[in-house]
Amino acid sequence: MEMPANTVKNDIEDFLKDTGFEATIGLEVHCELKTATKLWCSCKNSFGNEPNTLVCPVCLGLPGSLPVLNKRAVEYAIRIGLALNCTVQNSIFHRKNYFYPDMPKDFQISQYDIPINADGYVTLPDGGSVGIVRAHIEEDTGKSTHFSASGRIHESSATLIDYNRAGIPLVEIVSAPDITSSEMAKAYVTELRNIIVATGATDGKMEEGSMRVDANVSVKRIQDSELGTRCEIKNLNSLRSLGKAINYEIKRQVDNILSGQKVVQQTRHFNEDLNQTVTLRTKEEAEDYRYFPEPDLVPLNPGAAWIEQIKAEMPPLLIERRRMVQDLMRETQEIDQLQSAIAILVDLNLDSVFKQTVGIGANPTIALKRLTNEAANAVEAARNLNPEQFAKLIQLETDNKISTTQSKTILSKMLENPDKTLDILISELNIVSFGEAETTALVEQLIKDKPDEFERFKQGDDKVTQFFIGQIMRLSKGQANGKLVTEILMKKRNQF
Ligand code: ZN
Ligand code: MN
Repeated sequence: MEMPANTVKNDIEDFLKDTGFEATIGLEVHCELKTATKLWCSCKNSFGNEPNTLVCPVCLGLPGSLPVLNKRAVEYAIRIGLALNCTVQNSIFHRKNYFYPDMPKDFQISQYDIPINADGYVTLPDGGSVGIVRAHIEEDTGKSTHFSASGRIHESSATLIDYNRAGIPLVEIVSAPDITSSEMAKAYVTELRNIIVATGATDGKMEEGSMRVDANVSVKRIQDSELGTRCEIKNLNSLRSLGKAINYEIKRQVDNILSGQKVVQQTRHFNEDLNQTVTLRTKEEAEDYRYFPEPDLVPLNPGAAWIEQIKAEMPPLLIERRRMVQDLMRETQEIDQLQSAIAILVDLNLDSVFKQTVGIGANPTIALKRLTNEAANAVEAARNLNPEQFAKLIQLETDNKISTTQSKTILSKMLENPDKTLDILISELNIVSFGEAETTALVEQLIKDKPDEFERFKQGDDKVTQFFIGQIMRLSKGQANGKLVTEILMKKRNQF
């Protein structure tokens, strides 16, 4: 039986406390850039095509072909660097040499000791921070498909290679080893993804492989100053696998040390079915790659003016967009409880419609709640909501002219029928307004019809309150506003 996630988390925390160890985690995140073409050639950068149809001599590494750097890829890399608070600097490209069939040139053009972006940080929603060592440009490899029941190379009889992905531009974001738990790793990747997606440079789709995470995990005794030997877990493609792989690896390494063995530096793979990490190969050191400067490319010096221009034309950063929403909500009492809804609003790209709606005068709390709950199921339609009609709807609710339930019903119809006005939707749905006057009339009629019950109500019999509310809901065919009915009933009790 699988244990609930929080039990596992607490298990690991308890386990570390009991054994006196702590974990050190650094993450390398590869993200594909949303350019129209590849990094060194004019082949299309596109996912899900017939294998080996988006290739040319350059991305197939044929002799004599030369790379030409894609300017848009550099722009996107700079956007990512700026969003991660990095220094954007002059950089050069290196060849990282290794033999693997998905790498047609037998080397990957990457950046090494002088990357385009260095020394940034990501602030986590809980206020914590993770340093960014570098965010450099490199090319993606082709994709191999191993033919075996398990899909693993060891048991396969044949391997097919699709070079459509070879040469797609990547930015590799290397974090400092500031992460101490699987929960923090997941929070970091979530926030990182939101930040870089908001720059427009990448789509951050882990499930399509356009964002892939490698985790470097080591453990050490709390009192030790030196870090332990690390293992790298490759290609984690969901937050769930990331968390599970890290927890498994922490436990494996501590158990290893406690039983008198050494942790061996390795590259490991997370097996989803077994729910454990397994050895892929002994980890290479940087020397193994025989890095040397790429002779076919000149140094990359973007220049201050271009960097400034990119900064000026960049979409607003995630953190600024959240701040704009927070500003619009500063009068709201329960703002602290609404912070996660604000983050969701921005991640769903609904902050623009929110701003317009609140700008017309709609209650920001109601707008936020509707957009992050009811509207979140139809997010495309929600982005195109007519702010005036939506603001009018919220105003009806604020004025107690319609109930919350009615408001939600109307909103879902509004999302389905963007061309219909609020008035038309209300009449089509047979929504009857039970405002103060209408509800008072109903309550008074009921008091007249049920004098005995009203007598008991006056004497404080709470069961009768429920009876009255039920009666009025029935009379109004469920459309009355329960909160308003209670208010008016209480007023009547004090009057008589
Ligand atoms: Zn090509
Ligand atoms: Mn890489």
